[in-house]
Amino acid sequence: MMLKGKVAVITGSTSGIGEGYARALASEGCDIMLNGLGAPADIEAVRQSIETDYGVRCLFHGADMTKVPEIEDLFKTMETEFGGTDILINNAGIQHVAPIDEYPLDKWDAIIAINLSAVFHTTRLAIPMMKRRGWGRIINTSSAHGLIASPNKGAYTAAKHGVAGFTKATALEVGPYNITANAICPGYVWTTLVEKQIPDIAKTRNMTEEEVINNVMLDMAATKKFTTIEQVASLALYLCSDMAQNITGSMQSIDGGWTAQ
Ligand code: NAD
Repeated sequence: MMLKGKVAVITGSTSGIGEGYARALASEGCDIMLNGLGAPADIEAVRQSIETDYGVRCLFHGADMTKVPEIEDLFKTMETEFGGTDILINNAGIQHVAPIDEYPLDKWDAIIAINLSAVFHTTRLAIPMMKRRGWGRIINTSSAHGLIASPNKGAYTAAKHGVAGFTKATALEVGPYNITANAICPGYVWTTLVEKQIPDIAKTRNMTEEEVINNVMLDMAATKKFTTIEQVASLALYLCSDMAQNITGSMQSIDGGWTAQ
């Protein structure tokens, strides 16, 4: 129960990697504020199962990460319900695959808002709470695309490189306050976000869906394996531990060796 008495706010935690983070932290006794989009009944099922499976307090706030007043309301709720936050995991993210000269303008704006600008807004609101507590952990889900690029992922690559840089700047500012800030950079993790891009990549590269999996997604991974949600979540748990106190400003690759080449 390493995180008993602590509370975490995790953006984009109604599915995929974010839900995995929530379950991993809750399994160590951490109270959780879930956030994300989805059908209310599905979200309530996740919220309830975290409370019953791990015996922690788990709430949900539906702040849309494109809307600053809603993000501010999420942190007001953290204050009233939990007296602040100890851990912030920025994880909400979307993807759109298209060539730059055909890239839909609304998709560019949404990716920059959700994947990058929201990270600034949550961080600026969480830092005073962590300073007050004299302890904090900020974990940003960047991506292998925070370190390298792929064609047709211009907006996502720009946003995730931005997250990587912002994480380093955050680490330098919060270090003296016993707060760390790190980015996790996964390669392909089997979630709906990945599943949904397969038909688009197949179309833009004129490939079958099986060729996309083997020749695009796993081609560069030395292990030829997808990363699992649980593997990403356990890395986050380690970053929350006391043993990770001096890991800050780091980019933690978990990509089967993809970015080693
Ligand atoms: P996912 O689609 O399952 O999860 C995305 C989460 O973000 C969901 O909870 C969704 O509701 C939420 N979200 C989307 N738009 C939102 C908005 N406007 N406001 C609030 N929440 C919003 O996908 P995932 O694969 O679990 O992705 C999670 C994170 O991991 C993303 O930042 C993604 O870029 C990153 N990532 C994923 C992979 C991968 O291979 N799956 C690899 C590297 C990085």
